[in-house]
This record gives sequence, C-alpha cells and structure tokens, in this order.
Amino acid sequence: MKITRVSTAVIAGNFDWVLVRVETDAGVSGLGEAYWGAGVAELVAKSSECIIGEDPRNVGKLYEKMIRRMSGAGSLAGATVTAISGIELALWDLVARSLNTPISTLFGGRFRDRIRIYADCHAGADQTPESFAEKARATVAAGFTALKFDLDVPNPYRHLVVDDTDPANHWFEPYNRTIGASERQWMVEVVAAVRDAVGPDILVGMDCHWKYAVPDVIKLAQALEQFDLLWLEDPVPPENIAAQAEVTRNTRTPTCTGENLYRKHGYRELIETQAARIIAPDIPKMGGLLEAKKVADHADTYYIPIAPHNVASPVGTVAAAHVCAAMSNFLVMEFHASDVPWWATMVDGDPPIRDGFITLTDAPGHGLTLNEDVARANAKPGTTFFGDAV
Ligand code: MG
Repeated sequence: MKITRVSTAVIAGNFDWVLVRVETDAGVSGLGEAYWGAGVAELVAKSSECIIGEDPRNVGKLYEKMIRRMSGAGSLAGATVTAISGIELALWDLVARSLNTPISTLFGGRFRDRIRIYADCHAGADQTPESFAEKARATVAAGFTALKFDLDVPNPYRHLVVDDTDPANHWFEPYNRTIGASERQWMVEVVAAVRDAVGPDILVGMDCHWKYAVPDVIKLAQALEQFDLLWLEDPVPPENIAAQAEVTRNTRTPTCTGENLYRKHGYRELIETQAARIIAPDIPKMGGLLEAKKVADHADTYYIPIAPHNVASPVGTVAAAHVCAAMSNFLVMEFHASDVPWWATMVDGDPPIRDGFITLTDAPGHGLTLNEDVARANAKPGTTFFGDAV
C-alpha cells in the first residue's frame, strides 16, 4: 500500500477547521484534521510531499520524516507541527480502516468507551454572576457533566486596574497582569454563582488565558479553593514553567496548562517539575495522536491527568477521543463549538457528542463519514475543497 495523494479542505466554523485527506493506491483513505491557523493548509501540502509513495502503515517513521524535512532536528514548533498533526491523524484513520479496527485499538485499546466532554461556556450573556449561572444551568440541562468559563473577560472593575481597557479587544491586554481587589471579588462571585447553580458534582473549570502575575493569581486561586474547581487554567503566561510551578505549589485549586506546547519535548519540563496538576495538550496541534499518547504516558509517571484542549470539528474531536480512550490517565476533553449549530451535521449519523459524552463504536478508523454537502457548503472562500475550487 502506498500513499498517492494528500489534500485539504478548510471549513469556516468558529475556527478554520483544516481537514486533511490521505489517499492510497489500495483504495483506502483516511481523514484527519489540523488545528486552525494561517498557512496550515499550505504547510500540509509542503510537509506531505516527502511521504508520497511511502507505506502509510509506518506512521511513526513518516511523522519523523516530515518533522525533519521541514525543520532539521530540534527546532520545530508552531504551525508546521500543527500541519503534520493533521496528516498524522489522517494516517491513523487510514491504517485503522485498512485493518478494519477502531483507531483506539492501535494505541493499546480502551480503558473506556465513553469519553467525558466538557463544554466551553466562555462567559455569561452580560457581566452579572447570575448570567454566568444561567449559562451553566443551560449547559447542564443539555446533558454536560463538566463545563468551563473564562475569568479574564470584561468585567465591571477592570477599569480600576488598567486605564486602556478595550472590551472588544480584551485578549490583547498584556500590559498589566494585576487583578484588582474588586475585580477579584467579582471573579469569586462568578464562580460562586456557577457552583451554586450546578451543585457539587458537576466538574467546573475556569480559564485565565495566561493573563496574570504570580502573586495576583495565587490570591485568586486561594480565594477560589472553597468552590472545589476542576482546575484553574493558564494562570500565568506560558513561557516560564517555574512561574507556573509557583502558582501550583501555593494553592489547593488544581492548575492546568499545556495547550500551546508542541511535541513530547515541549511537555518535558512541565511534567518533570510537576508544574501543573493537569495537562491539556491540543492533540491536532501539538503533534497528533501518538505524540499525545507519549505525553500522557510521561505525565502518568507523575500521576498527572490529561484533559485535552480542543476546538476542532467532529473529525479532530472524535479522532482525539480514540487516543483519549487509550490513556489510563484521561480526565475530560473540551468541546468548543456550542455556538456552531451545524457542527454535528458535518458528519453522517448520530451527533458525536450526546449527553456530554462521546461514545466510541467499533467502526473502523475514527468511525466518521464526512457529510460532504455540509462541509462544502461551509468551506472557506478562496480555499480548495480536497483539490476542487471553492
Ligand atoms: Mg484555555
């Protein structure tokens, strides 16, 4: 069996979902997905040139071949790894289909058939804690047993901390990592309202998006200890593992990070210094299924659970769920497309997420069939749809 063609389709969801198709001379093909980003589809085309004519079953070798071809050794991160991740996902789907077995079998088999999904809720409809609580109640009513909100969102007190706050542009406010006293109290009231709304047994995470300084976010994390959070995510900027570790060591609120690290090497220091209580690799971004399994096994030697970050279409989400099934230390995986009503219709059959879980079947590969009509109707203008003009 030889690889004959690799092509992409970019679907305009709430992110640009980069689907990757790998075809062979045996008539079997695989469908994967890479994390979004400018140039990722072009990098898929370039990275895959060196695997045309290769046997797709040698996934590990092909992954290393693409990494080395695109970087030489040791320097590769970012969009190129993301592109190669999408190819890697497609290769595993292809190989599993050729063997008539689910992807999970190829990673050691399943610890579980049901993969718990948490819903990313972002924020309330307005800045009142009650509006966060209302969204939490609706999310639980939709069947989810785990959810997450963002705490680094516009709030009534941010202007007391920074004088240049632009609510429309709050992601880009790197100049002041302080959390003001009233702002912290607002965050505590938001978490209190959410916890009160959902009760003690729903898993509740909170995300800080790398915004805060060490002492400020330690005070916040300590104030939140009473609410028994699942985690406080990305409390400090991601480049300094020692700063992350200092937060982790100074609160009983578990910390979580890892969505912007790449390849197994990118997680080494984080794991070996136990700088976070939970690790959140983005699987179609950080290197793919096998690389994520290696990170999970490394983390498990420190008893650290894995909770993948995920903003993918059903393809990347369910492919990732297969390797999550094979991780002994899997905790929960993200769903980030509640506001895309056609997310589930991109694939044929039942919605992949039902009652807050993905239930894996025995279908070969990831088990999904792309609904080409829905995918093509939402293809990003100016891109190609597996080779066809959009
Ligand atoms: Mg996050």
